[in-house]
Amino acid sequence: MSVRFAIIGGGPAGNTAATVAASLGAEVTLVERDLVGGAAHLRDCIPSKAMIATGGELSELTRARSMGLHAEGRLDVAALRERVAGIEARLQRSVTELLESQGVRIIMGTGRLTGADRLVVETTDGTEELEADAILLATGSRPRIPDWATIDGERVLTTRQAYPPPEIPEHLVVIGSGVTGVEFTHMFSALGSSVSLVVSRQQVLPYKDAEVAAVLEAEFLSRDVRLLKGARAQSIVRDGDRISVSCDDGRVAAGSHALLCIGSVPNSEGLGLDAAGVQTDERGCVPGDRHCQTNVPGIYSAGDVSGRLPLSSVAAMQGRKIAEHVMGLTARSHRHLDYDKAASAIFTEPEIADVGLVEAEAFAVGRKLRVTKVPFSANPKSLINGDPRGFVKILSDPATGVVLGGSIVGQNAAELISVLAVAVTNGLKTVDIVDSLLVHPALAESLAEAAD
Ligand SMILES: Cc1cc2nc3c(=O)[nH]c(=O)nc-3n(C[C@H](O)[C@H](O)[C@H](O)COP(=O)(O)OP(=O)(O)OC[C@H]3O[C@@H](n4cnc5c(N)ncnc54)[C@H](O)[C@@H]3O)c2cc1C
Repeated sequence: MSVRFAIIGGGPAGNTAATVAASLGAEVTLVERDLVGGAAHLRDCIPSKAMIATGGELSELTRARSMGLHAEGRLDVAALRERVAGIEARLQRSVTELLESQGVRIIMGTGRLTGADRLVVETTDGTEELEADAILLATGSRPRIPDWATIDGERVLTTRQAYPPPEIPEHLVVIGSGVTGVEFTHMFSALGSSVSLVVSRQQVLPYKDAEVAAVLEAEFLSRDVRLLKGARAQSIVRDGDRISVSCDDGRVAAGSHALLCIGSVPNSEGLGLDAAGVQTDERGCVPGDRHCQTNVPGIYSAGDVSGRLPLSSVAAMQGRKIAEHVMGLTARSHRHLDYDKAASAIFTEPEIADVGLVEAEAFAVGRKLRVTKVPFSANPKSLINGDPRGFVKILSDPATGVVLGGSIVGQNAAELISVLAVAVTNGLKTVDIVDSLLVHPALAESLAEAAD
């Protein structure tokens, strides 16, 4: 008899687990209450990147002047909305088609555990009970809303309400300067808004390399973004078409819209966790072991609800590993996920990407490192492209040359970091990068130079 695998949540974690398990012969049922493809994925990740791409094109037009090309850009917000909606719909369709082609049964409804090997699904037609040999909780997360903010969906927004926007805000106050906050700051300033950014620490991106953050801050200042450093927002007041955000140091940021970018909370309530004896941590996340299995054997958690790195890429990889574990493929899944080696990117301008060790943290614990840094201004392709901003930094073990991490700031950083991600994951040495015959002229040549 084939393994019966039930999955609650159809985001990157759930749909990857479903397709991989089905391709390995499992009888898979996927329960989704909203969007097959994932609420966070289709409502946050994809539309934000689509809008950033439009902002990027506008910036390109400005840069093109230095290449002898004079063209004017005029933003058509209706067309932008249509484009974003079109991308979402297309991705949703392709995920659904892939699941169906693998024989995954999709039930549109809300799932809840009723025991360690059973769940109930509430649909518009009634309820359905399912039994399963393995269950995956992949219910994602939603934006965190603090007590002091009243979201009205018009002028005071969470990230899910910021796109596609009915209008481009005249002056947006972004609260929070982590990855999401800086991406929205970049996106709306590129699309023509004035932006004020409330930064609770002394640097944007507080957990990133200080040199990386400095490049982004300089870029924001060159676009007249107002940085309120060391300020924590305490209240948001709306008065007609205006909002004002008051901070704990007495400063007030006034604008036309406020956008909260202060993290997310896991979708773990109402999931019947008690009925199955599944434990949560202090944040309400459902943690798992190295196989992503919760404290109840046979019940797994993946994606944002698991409390690990909140990235689509990590969610999908967890889903893949879980499917292999459920199907007993221990040989293929012998390499456990090492979250410290996950590559990530920030889609600002310039782009920022990193992987592995962060320099300051490594030095703080006394780790010896070889750090090499090469600016893109020395790279011919950067000059040809008319954008010499940024650098490549590689961290390696001084004794062995093994690549331990790196940061890239500049054009196509999110693509280029893949080279370092492969090196970090597979224990490659700097010499392996240096000895590779790369294309010329190419931005990737700076990787080889930094590795040398
Ligand atoms: C603004 C923003 C931008 C981002 N950009 C990126 C990026 O560029 N790159 C990146 O890697 N990550 C990005 N992320 C993070 C990424 O979106 C999430 O990490 C990812 O979507 C998590 O996948 P998931 O499968 O855990 O959850 P989701 O994608 O949220 O999917 C969970 C699904 O479960 C469903 N569900 C919940 N409860 C139930 C229930 N009881 N019954 C049935 N269904 C249920 C939900 O409807 C949802 O569809 C971004 C996040 C934000 C907020």
